[in-house]
Amino acid sequence: MYYPEKCDLCGDCLFYCPYVEMDRDEAVEQFRELLEGGTPSILEGCVTCVACNAVCPQGVNPFHLIVKRQEESGIPEIPQANLSLFENLPRVPAQIVEGSNEDVLSLCSVGDLVPGLFDGPLFKDLTVVKGGDYFCGVGWLHLGRLTPFVETAKNALRHLEALGRERIIFYHDDCYSLFSSLVRELGLTPKFKPVHVIEYVLQRLKSGDFETRRLDMSIAYQQPCASRYTPWKDPWLDELFDLLGVRRVSREHDRDRSLCCGSPLMPRDRERAMTIKTRNVQDAKGHGATAMVYLCPLCLLNLRKPAAEVGLENYHLLQLVDMALGR
Ligand code: SF4
Ligand code: SF4
Repeated sequence: MYYPEKCDLCGDCLFYCPYVEMDRDEAVEQFRELLEGGTPSILEGCVTCVACNAVCPQGVNPFHLIVKRQEESGIPEIPQANLSLFENLPRVPAQIVEGSNEDVLSLCSVGDLVPGLFDGPLFKDLTVVKGGDYFCGVGWLHLGRLTPFVETAKNALRHLEALGRERIIFYHDDCYSLFSSLVRELGLTPKFKPVHVIEYVLQRLKSGDFETRRLDMSIAYQQPCASRYTPWKDPWLDELFDLLGVRRVSREHDRDRSLCCGSPLMPRDRERAMTIKTRNVQDAKGHGATAMVYLCPLCLLNLRKPAAEVGLENYHLLQLVDMALGR
């Protein structure tokens, strides 16, 4: 998952980290320390946003090396309650609701966080799976834990393959990132085609089976950190926004400069998380957005209050789709 032998110690990864102030020399020195098994301050400072993987010109995956060192060193200290929550997620009873459609929709462990998203006509007749067997485990990386991530990911893959379907649609961006990208780094190839929920919705809306109205809104999009593993889906999202009549405002913290929603930091440094959230929603407001739009339900739950406080409405992307369908 990380390739230290490719590193030429350019320092780009930490120099461009959006959450720490480091000059080039310090960035190089801290990364050298990481490679040598030390505990530089980036272990505490990292908010697990994955941006450095995208920045690294050599494909080292520096974020995964940081996570490995976080796991080995126990830095930062994660409250036991948060670790226990993740440990227990695979034990949540799994549910399979059979539909007449061959496609499966996987909701991971986050399907019930924003109610009503799948009640509309686009998802009718799909077989829906959710619960512990389908928990992808990518969230473990946000807690600085590589080993349970790998175990959980393999468990979810086994259960999804056991469904015996050709296509599986993923609602949780973490799941799609895992099964379309990260899993290859574990030397595994899924026996199904992973389909992102944006890709699926776009296909359905373009089929001509549904009438939509244009929403005429200016919104700021909150990109989930996991989207950095799957940059090829950005044009799908842009096309969907076009189709819905939604203008994605151009702002400082969008696309490759997106900010984390703050949820991974909340348990260990609430004050710093709140500072990042405020920077994010003020950027959205300052660039003309009237609403924040989320793909990840956890981003929505984490940012909706500070967004509302600066006068922004909050929508999950699928709620915009429902509005365009007149629901
Ligand atoms: S994952 Fe994000 S916060 Fe952590 S070092 Fe990389 S760029 Fe910085
Ligand atoms: S991990 Fe990549 S970006 Fe970071 S120092 Fe090494 S080569 Fe440069």
